[in-house]
Amino acid sequence: MKSAAIRVPLHRGEETRRKLKREGILREDLYPKREDNFLILPVTREVEGFELFEDEFRPKEERINTYKDVVEIPDEELKKLLPTSYDMIGDIALIKIPQELKKYREEIGKALLKAHKNIRAVYHAEPVSGELRTRKLEFLAGERKTRTLYREYGIEMEVDIAKVFFSPRLSRERYRIAKLVRDGEIVIDMFAGCAPFSLMIAKYANPKVVYAIDINKEAVKLAVENVKRNKLLHKIEIMEGDSSKIVQELAEKGVRADRIIMNLPFGAREFLPDALTVSKKGTYIHYYAIVRESDIENHIEYLKKVSNNCIDVVGINKIKTYAPREFYTCFDIIVNRKPA
Ligand code: SAM
Repeated sequence: MKSAAIRVPLHRGEETRRKLKREGILREDLYPKREDNFLILPVTREVEGFELFEDEFRPKEERINTYKDVVEIPDEELKKLLPTSYDMIGDIALIKIPQELKKYREEIGKALLKAHKNIRAVYHAEPVSGELRTRKLEFLAGERKTRTLYREYGIEMEVDIAKVFFSPRLSRERYRIAKLVRDGEIVIDMFAGCAPFSLMIAKYANPKVVYAIDINKEAVKLAVENVKRNKLLHKIEIMEGDSSKIVQELAEKGVRADRIIMNLPFGAREFLPDALTVSKKGTYIHYYAIVRESDIENHIEYLKKVSNNCIDVVGINKIKTYAPREFYTCFDIIVNRKPA
């Protein structure tokens, strides 16, 4: 970008730059540059003692606070509907665009790319659905890539957002669980996905073994890669298949878990009796469900009933909002006697 400029001998460069800045004469939207033994400063007007000339300068990047600052939507009312939150998984952004804004989907994608220099692809994402809990995606901007490297708490994970479930919003919850695990525990991650809970536990605790089970072939492939990548093969055993069958097989082999993770909101309740077959008195179960605040007590009653009253709920953690007054909730459960 062109600007008026002055040429200052290098030994006076910094002092002059500061003085011009104080006086509001220095152009702060452009980078000064060096030529031989001179500093070339972009200025707004003449400076006494220096010859004024015109030169080319590199503009400083515009500081963008949010993608909303740069999105090209002419209608101010519609702009108010822009989502404030979205997920960033590695170098991919996932946003849920409301129907009313669908005609501006490209502009929204481009604005997200502009606002986040580290983002290379943007997708509109529908809520997770189906047995594999994956999302329908719509490409918005950048590269058409769905696989990315995601990092949390020093763990590196390959994630393919088109093929497996993944939520960066659970990272603190994963760490919370890992910190509860005592030395030598046998842990079963019944719905492991690409293994984020298992990896966190294997990295931040010292379990005897973590059995990471998932029915999604693609998730299992990624889990294997991720366990190798983080050098945790000696602590995690990955198993592909239906966890209700696999836990029963483990139970028949005499395995009794110290801790079970059931991260399958909307579905975990059906699997609680299976989890109990591989439990003992004192087993902890971290059971995830999406529940309305007002339904929490009913849900606890339900869990007690299906487990023949052999469990107590010892903690409730609301992890993230799912809908107004509805939360992605973890019920920390303890098995209070040997299940029948
Ligand atoms: N724990 C992972 C995480 O936090 O990213 C994944 C959780 S995701 C909500 C639920 C996972 O359960 C999916 O990866 C899905 O494939 C898997 N799943 C669904 N039904 C299953 C079953 N019967 N047996 C094993 N895995 C199952």
